[in-house]
Amino acid sequence: MKWAVFMDRDGTVNEEVGYLDDPAGLRLLPGAGEAIRRLNAARVPVLLVTNQSAIARGYLPAARLQAVHQELARQLAAHGAHIDHIYHCPHHPDENCSCRKPQPGMLQQAAAEHGIELADSFIVGDKGTDLEAGRRVGCRTVLVLTGYGPDERRRLETAGPRPDFVARDLSEAVEWILTRQREEAGDD
Ligand SMILES: [Mg+2]
Ligand SMILES: [Zn+2]
Repeated sequence: MKWAVFMDRDGTVNEEVGYLDDPAGLRLLPGAGEAIRRLNAARVPVLLVTNQSAIARGYLPAARLQAVHQELARQLAAHGAHIDHIYHCPHHPDENCSCRKPQPGMLQQAAAEHGIELADSFIVGDKGTDLEAGRRVGCRTVLVLTGYGPDERRRLETAGPRPDFVARDLSEAVEWILTRQREEAGDD
């Protein structure tokens, strides 16, 4: 079974701007393209999991979301990087679906579709709810200090649970993940 890196989108890969409904507003965070390219080169599946309740709220037509994701792919390609699959939850929080993070539904779907061992995988995000989705299915958790990360670190220090690692940004998160993985492979 393969392992994967699950990634939040806003505040983790690209700048957090509230509801992103315009491809022209998409900005990759510094180093994000290179970090994803490193995972691509290591043949680690990169699976994006993003809550998009703006769809249910009527602010974001599904076609606009696709346009934003095409732009994301285009900007990543300029860095020689790609995301293997993007999963999004279109539901309103009140719908109590099984895919809106912190629920792990998107991770479970991805695991089934890509043959991923969740207990050997990682999740990277800028919010406790991202990490909780991974924790519920046995992934290791990395909080990045971009987006909401600084506020979330303070909150999690008292409210818990603490992330397995706190990284300055996606680049440091990927470095930690690849190092851990190498060490564990060497332990066998
Ligand atoms: Mg985020
Ligand atoms: Zn959902």
